[in-house]
Amino acid sequence: MYAPPFVRAFGIAVLAVLPSFSSPATAASLKSSGSSSSCRCFPGDACWPSPADWKAFNQSVGGRLIATVPLGSVCHGTTYDAARCADVKAAWPYADTHTDSSSSVLAPFFANQSCDPFLPRETPCVIGTYVQYAVNVSSVADIQKTLAFSQKKNLRLVVRNTGHDYFGKSTGAGGLGLWMHNLKTYDIHDYKSAAYTGKAVTMGAGIQAGESAATAFKQGLTIVSGICPTVGLAGGYTQGGGLGPLTTRYGLGADQVLEWHAVLANGSEITATPTKNSDLYWALTGGGGGTYAVVYSMTVKAHANEKTTGANLTFPNAGSEDVFFQGVQAFHDIIPAISDAGGTAVWTVLSKALSVGPVTGPNMTKATMDSIFQPVLQKLDALNITYSYSSGEFSSFYESNAAYDPPVVSNGLQIGGRLVKRSDFTGNPDGFIQAIRGIADQGGLVTGASYQLSSSLQHPPNSVNPELRKSLISFQIGVPWINTDWATDLHNQDLITNSFVPALAALLPSGGSAYLNQADFREPGWQQVFYGENYEKLLELKDVYDPNGVFWGRTTVGSERWAETEDKRLCRVS
Ligand SMILES: Cc1cc2nc3c(=O)[nH]c(=O)nc-3n(C[C@H](O)[C@H](O)[C@H](O)COP(=O)(O)OP(=O)(O)OC[C@H]3O[C@@H](n4cnc5c(N)ncnc54)[C@H](O)[C@@H]3O)c2cc1C
Repeated sequence: MYAPPFVRAFGIAVLAVLPSFSSPATAASLKSSGSSSSCRCFPGDACWPSPADWKAFNQSVGGRLIATVPLGSVCHGTTYDAARCADVKAAWPYADTHTDSSSSVLAPFFANQSCDPFLPRETPCVIGTYVQYAVNVSSVADIQKTLAFSQKKNLRLVVRNTGHDYFGKSTGAGGLGLWMHNLKTYDIHDYKSAAYTGKAVTMGAGIQAGESAATAFKQGLTIVSGICPTVGLAGGYTQGGGLGPLTTRYGLGADQVLEWHAVLANGSEITATPTKNSDLYWALTGGGGGTYAVVYSMTVKAHANEKTTGANLTFPNAGSEDVFFQGVQAFHDIIPAISDAGGTAVWTVLSKALSVGPVTGPNMTKATMDSIFQPVLQKLDALNITYSYSSGEFSSFYESNAAYDPPVVSNGLQIGGRLVKRSDFTGNPDGFIQAIRGIADQGGLVTGASYQLSSSLQHPPNSVNPELRKSLISFQIGVPWINTDWATDLHNQDLITNSFVPALAALLPSGGSAYLNQADFREPGWQQVFYGENYEKLLELKDVYDPNGVFWGRTTVGSERWAETEDKRLCRVS
């Protein structure tokens, strides 16, 4: 499939005049752009593959090459279609719109207004920061051929699964994408190794959390995942750590991994387990997606369904703000008890309300859940705050989650993050309330995910940041994206980086750490903040498995050696 010429032409010609976003290195510190070999080849360069090259490559991958036609193309130029454009705009906030595309991403900032459906019709449709082409991967051979072609032609390679990444790691100007989304195999089987004996599932790299949960449930099984059904499991989620409703019960997503089946940058097909290629296993399991290899499938533990209680609580900020935040404090006070009882909670403080849910209690009765919440409800009654509380006991996590995990409308949240240990949180209750109140007052959303990782949870050594393991809460501080107001979006981005994240960091020793999947892409000192004590070893392994930097993404291990120039070309930093 090849794009209409206007899309390709504008994609190249107009790229340079698009609004730019900051990169970790200034243009001055980069080696010269143009077609310099220190930069990846870019559309318009002499080195860019000819139409005949693309045609031959397309044939070599069985016609699975997709030339990008941005979703917003129906809103511009000669392909404008009023009805379809209205449909695209209406669908834009829903994850499926982007996950089912070979190029679109959920974080609009990294689309850089390329062929933006919300821009006026007369604005040219440019491919811009979307990948130029993507291979709809169906086999290991597709991956190997794409890796070979991209390296032969010095192209920027982008591994993309669902496009959920908050850092824009699954898109890239002038990129050739490996689109993993349609690898949907799902094989439940018995597994035996030194580390684990029991049920397991081997899933293709395109399996999403909701698909996994539904299929496993029918077989009486539960698979660890996050709260969002559209996030992919084998990509950034598990490779980056993987928090979710079952974290306290079974450990992180990464802790479930028994085997990776992957392709290295040099094209070698490889299996990595705790005992075979164990250093690659270690790096892939927590060191961040899109860094060491292209994962074709992974094998993870499967747990038997068990009784699970779900709960939620909401109350508005309707009267005195002081009173509202006393209510929030009452909820904060029970967070350690939820973890101690084996549960997790997700909540968001907005300027107008507190919304708690899902609270998940695996192997917990409704009576236990209600007793944990009783002091909060009593306090809310005493404060005369009207609330809505609900809890329910189910025979499986799947059913509990279906009842208590609210639908996620996810497109376009800009975020920062901080991990908070129990002693820091319980030792300074007023400090956290004041910081959160200050953020909410300025229009920020403060989402918390609480959990507890006991040392009794067995897992092979992996590269998850130890700070993630030691924390009680992962805070995500967000500001909703406004599709029609880029200037305000940039202002909000500055608020996150310069005000919101520092407000939480100020409460933590040495400024604290953050979960590498849910944090600010402009985080200063991200190597330490995201990877902690593992960074040095992870960088050594990057040099072993990907010495030429074939895999690059903002804030991935070794990414500081490359940066984007003003025109978004990816170049080595001198
Ligand atoms: C709405 C929403 C809800 C979320 N909820 C949670 C949550 O509950 N818990 C949690 O821990 N995180 C959560 N996240 C964060 C999520 O885990 C990350 O965004 C993660 O990177 C998504 O992975 P993906 O593969 O689906 O996305 P993509 O954007 O496609 O990829 C993310 C990264 O993984 C790489 N990658 C993808 N596939 C492969 C592959 N096969 N091989 C090698 N590299 C690959 C990409 O190159 C990229 O670097 C959420 C994010 C969003 C937007």
